[in-house]
Amino acid sequence: MAPDKDLARAQALALDEDIEMSKWTDWKWHIRNSVRDIDTFERLLGVDLSEYRSQFDETVKTFPMSITPYYLSLMERDDLYNDPIFRQAFPSPHELELSNEDLEDPLSEDVDSSVPGITHRYPDRVLYTVANTCSMYCRHCTRKRKVGDQDYLPSQEQLDLGLEYIREHPEIRDVLLSGGDPFMLSDEALDSILAQLDDIPHVEVVRIGSRMPVVLPYRVTKGLAEALSGHKKALWLNTHFNHPREITPSSRRALATLADAGIPLGNQSVLLAGVNDCPRIMRTLVQKLVANRVRPYYLYQCDLSQGLSHFRTPVSKGIEIIENLIGHTSGFAVPTYVIDAPGGGGKIPVMPNYVLSWSPTKVILRNYEGVITTYRQPSDYKSDFCTGDCQGCDLQLKLEDAEEYNCVGIANLLGEHDPAISLVPEGTERMERRKDA
Ligand SMILES: *Cc1c(COP(=O)(O)O)cnc(C)c1O
Repeated sequence: MAPDKDLARAQALALDEDIEMSKWTDWKWHIRNSVRDIDTFERLLGVDLSEYRSQFDETVKTFPMSITPYYLSLMERDDLYNDPIFRQAFPSPHELELSNEDLEDPLSEDVDSSVPGITHRYPDRVLYTVANTCSMYCRHCTRKRKVGDQDYLPSQEQLDLGLEYIREHPEIRDVLLSGGDPFMLSDEALDSILAQLDDIPHVEVVRIGSRMPVVLPYRVTKGLAEALSGHKKALWLNTHFNHPREITPSSRRALATLADAGIPLGNQSVLLAGVNDCPRIMRTLVQKLVANRVRPYYLYQCDLSQGLSHFRTPVSKGIEIIENLIGHTSGFAVPTYVIDAPGGGGKIPVMPNYVLSWSPTKVILRNYEGVITTYRQPSDYKSDFCTGDCQGCDLQLKLEDAEEYNCVGIANLLGEHDPAISLVPEGTERMERRKDA
């Protein structure tokens, strides 16, 4: 049952049919009736957008629109152009303004794609695309280049290729089902993918990234919860709330259904100018999330995808928001602020500075209130000279695969088991000169 408040919103929409509860809470009805043209948008919401109409039409030609009636019902007509729901769902002419920093595939996902549907960028985990469509097209989508391209659910053969890749790579212990939105698949299809992952011994964790709890919470049915639970591998779910207004009676119920099914819930927000670039909004959001058993996971700096320049904030805005969270509210309500580095650099965390200075004996720190304090370091700490030989070490590890530990990057420079003293980028002139000599 839809909580009354959400049904009241539904009834306020000028839908063709007298909307009944049973229809309004049927997710497939919402998919069938998603708003994909501006005429319908104006009619349902009872608004007149003629002032900018030609610009909206131009935008939709390049970047199509799709809004679930549920998400549409959350919009407030009185101040429509400033409404955070509207801004995330309705095309803005600014999307057509290309800026110098825009990139077509900023995260190099296509380059890191080993087989269709698999992006293998990190050592032990992969992104596995199981649906190429969404119930709503977020205006800030990082895969904007693909939105509306070819909406389809991948064939069994394509899904099998991805599973085959995972099966053949024993280093993969974490599989992220992504898309599109994996919850566009039927309960049966999801159940089947999860069952096949169950049979791959090296897969330990499966994650699903879905915005359905936000844009179409009626997708979260008892049947879905059943399809997700009862599998062998640990299943985690990340959703995508950006603004406290998205937390409604219906989305709360969806989150409760998932949490009651034993699925740990996380949230990934994107920092968006004009939507949530405000410490108070973000604090309210994260507090509401944890009150609904959702752990804020990442706050993303807006990517360099084409058509997103009007959503981008300076990085300082994100740091200001984190400064307003750490210490001010529950530690587990604070997400990690990350920049997904262009060129496939991956997620890089960014934080305010808390370490002010240090000497061999003391570290000088400041807290969220501005208190400056000292931490005296132990004077008798004996650092083990770690050669990476875990068998000969006094620390108890006793894992069969301990010797397979493969240290890379900065962590490798810190260690003592590799003689490397520097990481040098390829192709520097200095190195070229050395080759010539
Ligand atoms: C974000 C992402 C992951 C997961 O990263 P975590 O930091 O483990 O959440 C994995 N693969 C790709 C390609 C990603 O973009």
